[in-house]
Parts: sequence; C-alpha cells; structure tokens
Amino acid sequence: MFRAAAQLHAVLAGKELVASDFRVPRLATLKLGGWTVAEVVPRGKHLLMRVQGPTPKDRLTIHSHLKMEGSWQVYPSGGRWRKPGFTARCVLRTATADAVGFSLGILEVVRTDQEDSIVGHLGPDLLGPDWDAAEAERRLLAAPEMPIGVALLDQSKLAGIGNIYRCEACFLAGVHPAAPVSAVPDLPAIITDAQVLLSANLGPGRRTTVLNARGVPVGRTAGRPGYWVYRREHQPCLKCGTPIRRGILGKDNGTGTYTEERDIYYCPTCQPLPTPGQ
Ligand SMILES: [Zn+2]
Repeated sequence: MFRAAAQLHAVLAGKELVASDFRVPRLATLKLGGWTVAEVVPRGKHLLMRVQGPTPKDRLTIHSHLKMEGSWQVYPSGGRWRKPGFTARCVLRTATADAVGFSLGILEVVRTDQEDSIVGHLGPDLLGPDWDAAEAERRLLAAPEMPIGVALLDQSKLAGIGNIYRCEACFLAGVHPAAPVSAVPDLPAIITDAQVLLSANLGPGRRTTVLNARGVPVGRTAGRPGYWVYRREHQPCLKCGTPIRRGILGKDNGTGTYTEERDIYYCPTCQPLPTPGQ
C-alpha cells in the first residue's frame, strides 16, 4: 500500500482532474472534474486521496481499501488497461494520466474533515507523513500485558506491520514474541527496527529483512535466506545456529481480547521468554 500510495501521489498530487468516473451505484453521480488532488496518503491498508474543490471548504477524501483482489494502477491518459474494464471501480483522469482502481474492497467518499470516522481508530502509520513514534509507544504501553508479537500487529496501536515484520523485528530486538509489552527492554528500538525493515522493502524485488550495516537489503541477491526467522522453522538461526521454532500467537490469554492467531517464528536462544516476575 505504501508503494501504491507513493506512486499515486507522484502522479496525482497537485494535478487537476479533468474527469472522474465512480463505477459504484452509490457514487455514480459524483463528478470531480475541475477538482485538484491535494495528496494521496496511506493509513495502514487504507488509501486516502484528498481532493480540493472550487471553494476552500470543498474538501473530499476518496477512501479505498484493496482487500484481497484490489489494485490501483496508473496509465498514460487514454492508455490501454491491463485489467478488464468491468472490474474498474474508480477512474481519476488528469491531463496526462489515468489512475484506475480495480476490484476495490472499499470505495467511499467522505468530507475530509470527517476522515477520522473511517480511519481514526488506526494508530500512527510507520511510513506515513505524520508518523508519531511517541504516540505509537504510548498506545503500545496502554496494554502492558499484551504480548509484543500481538501488539505489533494491532493496527490501532501502530499501522503497517504484518506478520513477517513483527516476527523479524522481535528477532532483531532479541525479544520473544510472547513477551508482554512491559517486558520489552527497548520499545522504541523494536519500533524503529520494524520501520527500517518496512522502508528497506519499499522498492521492487523480493522482500527481505537481512540488511547490511547501511540498511541495504542483502538477502535479495546473495544465496542466503531472505529472512532471519520467518518461515525458517527447524533451520539454524543465522546468528547462533539454534534451530528456529514456530509457534502460534494471538489467542486471548486472559488479559485482553486477542482474536487473530498467526504463526510466530523465533530463535529460542536469541529470544528467551522472560520468566514471570522478572
Ligand atoms: Zn539464535
């Protein structure tokens, strides 16, 4: 979503729309020709396109979510689409480019000053323009008993971390994913690790979390695993050689309402589980 937002922002921001076409019944009569795209920003897995109308108070936000099948693609104006036209849900045309949203899971338009009603529950976005590390830390610490591996996936605390990066960030921090947030020795560092990993994977190519000292991915080209622990169960830890383990994390342990169960991967030596009372 970060890549999509960045590409759309580069193409659309500051540009006047010469036409718009919303192909969902609810929005079929909405015409944004003459409006200007102010910015395109990601919020977790949501995409917000803010558009400015003829008067200062005309500010709308096109909110979309890709869900499983959706995508936004950019074409030269009038260019041939790579996906079937009947799957297009939104077409935004500038003088030079068409941005087309295909098979969008969510497509709605709200007044920009009411955006919070849609995405206000989301925590600060790790790669968003208004990232706020202190706020993310505050939200994590608000549930000190929650396992750090669950908390990092909770988009209401901070937005943008998926299962791969939560496993890898815990490994890099030397923290067991089941350790409570309160037992993490350096919470800002684990957040920064996740942010570095996300940033390093914005470009094209296979994802990897094995970076060199300058933060440049080395796992993509070299003949070595692209991840420290993710999906490496039974294989030797790249730091200590101990076989990587797989577990399940996310079920309610009695201190909160964790519902999503996802695989965790960790090194039992590099990431010891803190003993209770420590
Ligand atoms: Zn290890």
